[in-house]
Amino acid sequence: MHILSEETIVAPATAMGEGGVGIIRLSGNAAEETLSRFFRPTCPVSRFTSHRLYHGRIYDNNQVFLDEIMAVVMRQPHSYTREDVVEIHCHGGTMVVRRILDLLVDSGLRLARPGEFTLRAFLNGRIDLAEAEGVIDLIRARSESACSVALQQMEGGLSRTIYRFRDGIMNLLAEIEAQVDFPEEDLDFQDQERILQAGRVLMSEMDGLLSTFDSGRILREGLSILILGRPNVGKSSLLNALLGESRAIVTTVPGTTRDTLEESFVLGGIPLRIVDTAGVRITDDPVEAEGVRRARARIPSADQILLVVDGSLALTEEDHGVLSACHGRNLLLVVNKGDLEQTPLSGSFAALPRVRISAHTGEGLELLRDTIVSRFLGNSSGEGRESILLSDRRHREALVRARGALGNFFAAVERQAPGELLSVDLREALQSLGEITGETTPEDILELIFAKFCIGK
Ligand code: GDP
Repeated sequence: MHILSEETIVAPATAMGEGGVGIIRLSGNAAEETLSRFFRPTCPVSRFTSHRLYHGRIYDNNQVFLDEIMAVVMRQPHSYTREDVVEIHCHGGTMVVRRILDLLVDSGLRLARPGEFTLRAFLNGRIDLAEAEGVIDLIRARSESACSVALQQMEGGLSRTIYRFRDGIMNLLAEIEAQVDFPEEDLDFQDQERILQAGRVLMSEMDGLLSTFDSGRILREGLSILILGRPNVGKSSLLNALLGESRAIVTTVPGTTRDTLEESFVLGGIPLRIVDTAGVRITDDPVEAEGVRRARARIPSADQILLVVDGSLALTEEDHGVLSACHGRNLLLVVNKGDLEQTPLSGSFAALPRVRISAHTGEGLELLRDTIVSRFLGNSSGEGRESILLSDRRHREALVRARGALGNFFAAVERQAPGELLSVDLREALQSLGEITGETTPEDILELIFAKFCIGK
C-alpha cells in the first residue's frame, strides 16, 4: 500500500451536489501555504491562528473571484489526520466545489483516495483500526442501533477491551519468558496454577465478548427475515401489513409473488431486511419454479423464518413440505387469517412457537413484531447499551483465533510443554488481537478496509 507520503491531499468532504455549504479538506505539509496563496481574508492576518474560522474570498491564479468562503487551519497534531489540515467552507454547489478543487489540484495537491484522511489518522497513531472502522460504520449507519454500535466502536470501546486482553496476555508472556531465560527456576505448582488462573479469566472474558456477536451483528447489519409458506396463505399481505404500505401485490390467484421481494425497515431501532418469497410448492411454471428455488436458497442465511399458514384451513401437504424445508432453522409459525373461523393446528405444527395474526385486521401484528425483536435481543432495543459489543465479522474471526491460541496455550501448560512452545501460542494470540486494532493487520486487508470509505473521509 502506498502509505505516509509527503504529498498533501485534497478532497471534497461533503457530498457533491447542491447544498448550503460545501467543504473541501486538505491535509499535509503544504495545506496552509496553499490556502494562503488563494485566500484573501476579510481582515488580513500575518499568520492564521489554528482552529479559528476566517471569512474571506478565494481567487484563482488569474485573480478571478471564485467564491466567498470561510477557512480554518488546524495545525498538527490537533487535527483529524495529525497533519496540518485546512478546511474551506464554500457555497455548496457542484461547480463551486469543483472549481476550487481544480485550482488546488492544479497547484500541486493530490486528490485523496477514498478513506485516505482516515488512513492517515490511523497511520499517524491518532486512531486505531477498530476505531477507524467505527467511523465507516457510523457514516453508513441506517438505523439508531447501527449508529450507537458504531459510535461506541469509534470512541474506542471495543479497542479498550482488546487492549485489556492484550495486556493480560503480555503479562503471561513475561512470566513464561522469564522461565525460558532462567530455566533453573522451574515453574512450581503454585506458579502454574496462578498462570492458569489468569489465563482462565482472560478466556472467559473473551468468550463473553464473543457471545455478544449475534446481538452486535444484528444491531449493526440488521436481521434477515424470510417469509415462507405455500401460496395464498397471506405472505404478501403480511409483508405489506408489517411495512404499512402496499409494496407486494396481493391477489387471490396463488403464485403471484413469483420471485422474492426484499424490503428494509427499522423496528425498535433495529434494521430488518424482510424477504417475501414465492410460495414454496411444486409447480410446472418455469418462472415460478425459479422463484421457489430462490426462496429455498435463502433459507440457510435467514436469521428468522416466518412460516405462514392459513389458520382458517386445514394444513396441506404443501404446508408440511415447507416445514420440512426449514428443518433446523430458527422458525416462528405465523398463523394468519385470524379474522376467519379457525381450524386447530395438528401434528408438528402444534408444537412450534407461534403467533396468531390477521394481516387484514392487523390483529397480532404488534405481538409478532415484539416477538421477532425480543427473540434476538431480549428486551433491549439497542438504545442505551453500555456493554461492549462485537459486531464485525472480521473482528470476530480474529478474536476466535486469539481465543483458540490461548486454548492451545492452556493445553500446553497442562502437559508441561517447554516455555518456548508456550510463548509461541501466546504470541499467536497477540498477533490475532493486533489484527483487530491494526498493529498486525496485513496490508491487503488494510487496503480493503479503507477502500470502503468515501472520498474525503
Ligand atoms: P401469498 O400468496 O401467501 O402472498 O398470499 P396473499 O398475501 O397474496 O393473500 C392471498 C389471499 O388471502 C388474498 O386474497 C388476501 O386478501 C387474503 N388474505 C391475506 N391475509 C388475510 C387475512 O388476514 N384475513 C383474510 N380473511 N384474508 C387474508
